Amino acid sequence: MLMRQSSKKEYARYLLDRLHQEIDRPITVMEVCGTHTVAIAKSGLRDLLPEKMHLLSGPGCPVCVTDDHDLDVVMALARQDGLILATFGDMMRVPGTESSLLQEKSRGADVRVVYSPSDALQLAKENSDKQVIFLGVGFETTTPVVAAALDQAVQMELENLSVFSLHKVVPPIMRVLLDDPEVKIDAFLNPGHVCTILGTEPFRFIAEEYGKPCVVTGFEAADILEALLLIVRQYRNESPAVDIQYKRAVRPEGNPVAVGFIEKYFTPIQARWRGIGEVPESGLELREEYVQYDARKRFPITVKPGKCRKGCACGEVLKGLKLPYECPLFGKVCTPVKPVGPCMVSTEGSCAAYYRYGRQKAGVRS
Ligand code: SF4
Repeated sequence: MLMRQSSKKEYARYLLDRLHQEIDRPITVMEVCGTHTVAIAKSGLRDLLPEKMHLLSGPGCPVCVTDDHDLDVVMALARQDGLILATFGDMMRVPGTESSLLQEKSRGADVRVVYSPSDALQLAKENSDKQVIFLGVGFETTTPVVAAALDQAVQMELENLSVFSLHKVVPPIMRVLLDDPEVKIDAFLNPGHVCTILGTEPFRFIAEEYGKPCVVTGFEAADILEALLLIVRQYRNESPAVDIQYKRAVRPEGNPVAVGFIEKYFTPIQARWRGIGEVPESGLELREEYVQYDARKRFPITVKPGKCRKGCACGEVLKGLKLPYECPLFGKVCTPVKPVGPCMVSTEGSCAAYYRYGRQKAGVRS
């Protein structure tokens, strides 16, 4: 084991050397995956990369990109009598404009933390006198699991389970970033988990229409360095493509069974992204034939748009326009213990990752 660790380190050092030798011009690379954001911060890679290479974190954390208005609707829903709201734990402390699910729970709302959509299914079976709503938050990696739970619910003819879908899809948001003149991106590290499901085809437009390199990568430091080296080579040779570094998990065709599950139950809709706004075809709602499982349709609720959180720069952080420590609240008013914005709440949020692993470089000390 010790041997393996040291050879991994040696390999990472070799890749770093190659990067320093081969990079010939400035390049800005964005990762669009919260797990990559954490892996990069934790490994300290930013401090070791060539000066010409600039890494940005994009909208890769599904909790962080969930818009305040959608969160406010969820809070209002949680306050309704006779229902149980089932959610993943990382949504509990995410602030809407006036409260969080944790606060709603402390005021009496029946909010339960679940570890998978199957737990919500079980809750529905055990509480036949109540409506159970599963809060669906996540990208293409999570959606097939939710679809599989729905599949079971349909087979069991379960009538008291529904899904409040805040699911998002990744390729359209990458196009939005590429079209935004304010956002300067030369290349993407493609999300490894999402690409295990989607494969590479939905990302080809990045290379073919925009001429930008992108590489699907894994989550170890050496994976990320290998991918950055592939990006530098694509960039230098002006041969943009969608390469796969993460070959042990990702196939070009993705996982057609999982995609089939998504397509069976969900259909694309326009969705709101924090800091970015409405993006066509970037969200998922239940198909018309499964409307009885659609919590938005079964429990329609409207809330007034709330006030923005003063000083929180999550929107700009998610677009890569600001680094977390460029937010005036970072590390002072806003910390993981007392988060102001969702990017500091979620373990995969950029602000939380920079706070945990990057404070020295940022010059911020607790
Ligand atoms: S540091 Fe806090 S307030 Fe600032 S952008 Fe991040 S989450 Fe929002």
